[in-house]
Amino acid sequence: MEILVCIKRVPDTSENEIEINGSGNDIEREDLVYSVNEWDNYAVEEAIQIRDKVGGSVTVVTVGDEEAEEVLRREMAMGADNGLLLTDDAFENSDGRGVAAILKAAVAKGSYDLILCGAQADGAAAQIGGMLAAMLDYPYASLVNEIEVLGDKALKVGREIEGGNQEVNEIQLPCVLSIQTGINEPRYVGIRGIRKVASVDIPELGASDLGLSPDSVGEAGARVKRVDYFVPETGEGAEMLEGDSEEVAEKLIEMLKARGGIK
Ligand SMILES: Cc1cc2nc3c(=O)[nH]c(=O)nc-3n(C[C@H](O)[C@H](O)[C@H](O)COP(=O)(O)OP(=O)(O)OC[C@H]3O[C@@H](n4cnc5c(N)ncnc54)[C@H](O)[C@@H]3O)c2cc1C
Repeated sequence: MEILVCIKRVPDTSENEIEINGSGNDIEREDLVYSVNEWDNYAVEEAIQIRDKVGGSVTVVTVGDEEAEEVLRREMAMGADNGLLLTDDAFENSDGRGVAAILKAAVAKGSYDLILCGAQADGAAAQIGGMLAAMLDYPYASLVNEIEVLGDKALKVGREIEGGNQEVNEIQLPCVLSIQTGINEPRYVGIRGIRKVASVDIPELGASDLGLSPDSVGEAGARVKRVDYFVPETGEGAEMLEGDSEEVAEKLIEMLKARGGIK
């Protein structure tokens, strides 16, 4: 099975103090520690496990700048066979539709049976998987937490439903799935693995390679414009618990006990 996994390089929230930038329309992105979007790491692990069972290959793709190459290499060190970097000045500040259009053009250049996305990324928009499927006219299942391969024509997929319920569907290939965390246990990526893929060639494609007109994507093509980005004022009656996670957990337990929530 030929599998394409869409991955995004995002700020690592466990490693960074997030602040709003001077223009007030995004977070300050200078000097942040970045890593692969958590959901995408699960998607790559799932793709590797499927390939190891039924054969084929796993390609990881990202839309980003030159620095985004590091997440491709990380996921290749994990076991993905190929990386693909979609990069162009024209792609900067794309909205969700723009990112999906770029990915769609890359899908059209290959021959993939299965396309995996994460359920959401740092913007928590959860747009790309659904938009990509619609643009490709492929069937789509979101919040997938279980996959079984049924020959080369279909998959059985479990979906997490609100309230902890579970739904199971059969979906025809080719299809797009967005993957929920917890579907598997992503393997550890060691320094040796990273070194092994450090000099592997990663092809790059830009707007013209993908047959995209520069004004259809990026800031020029964005039809959703971000106009503000802020941390809401703390509401009345809210109490912010200060301290490291252990201290915060202890204070929370004390508060819940004091209010009869737990004994
Ligand atoms: C400076 C800046 C300006 C922006 N301006 C706008 C704007 O004007 N309007 C607007 O709507 N958005 C804007 N965005 C948001 C940006 O385009 C979002 O990344 C996009 O809308 C997708 O949302 P998301 O990252 O939450 O991805 P989601 O849809 O939550 O991601 C789901 C999955 O899609 C895949 N995916 C997401 N992004 C990528 C990627 N780059 N490459 C490969 N796969 C990917 C991954 O599998 C991911 O798990 C801006 C972002 C920045 C940094």
